[in-house]
Amino acid sequence: MSDTAARRVGIMGGTFDPIHIGHLILAECAYGQFQLDTVRFMPSGNPPHKMDRAGGATDEERLEMVRLAIRDNPHFSLDAEEMRRIGFSYTSDTLAALKRQNPDVDYYFIIGADSLFSFDAWHEPEVISRNCVLLTAVRDGRSVSAMEEKIEELRARYGARIHLLEMPNLAVSSTDLRFWRQEGRSLRYYVPDAVLEYMEQRGIYRDAVL
Ligand code: ATP
Ligand code: MG
Repeated sequence: MSDTAARRVGIMGGTFDPIHIGHLILAECAYGQFQLDTVRFMPSGNPPHKMDRAGGATDEERLEMVRLAIRDNPHFSLDAEEMRRIGFSYTSDTLAALKRQNPDVDYYFIIGADSLFSFDAWHEPEVISRNCVLLTAVRDGRSVSAMEEKIEELRARYGARIHLLEMPNLAVSSTDLRFWRQEGRSLRYYVPDAVLEYMEQRGIYRDAVL
């Protein structure tokens, strides 16, 4: 669905190295709980805080893993825009550009609690806050009350509109999965079967020095 047809668009940003159930369940919760028309998965280029991604998948592989993971979900789509651009693009720039192109669309940027707590360190938090509503879910066992406190703080500081999603704490990260794979541990059920097959076919993360 294009943004001209959709009014409430979720954006699920991440490095997705690899995509896993945490990302997928988070996006599905946002879709269902905020009546979104669609959720766009937007794999990032190499962000400044993840420049040292030696042993990670290539851009093309990260993109393909996302495509495989979401292909059977009609309200998920893939947006490779950030990755295609030369150099790194900030979330604030991406959201500002989207909002400029589609002023009638409401954008919902979907994040886990770790991103909520590091929000102050993001590039131009006030620009992000102006151009989207943030939807956030628990991660790393952060308490709801600590999250509510942080939400209130960011509202006061940037005028950020942030809502909590209902989601169980899922203790999974791409970093863990890369290590597990290197150790030969199974990733089954943590990533969709098609992603696992692709990873195995290409030997992704297998021989990496992480
Ligand atoms: P890495 O370990 O490489 O940082 P990651 O698992 O944190 O990978 P990212 O691509 O960094 O995945 O995350 C993209 C977004 O998804 C972030 O906002 C992050 O908070 C959220 N997210 C990732 N995993 C989970 C999870 N298990 N529960 C809730 N949110 C998650
Ligand atoms: Mg992360």
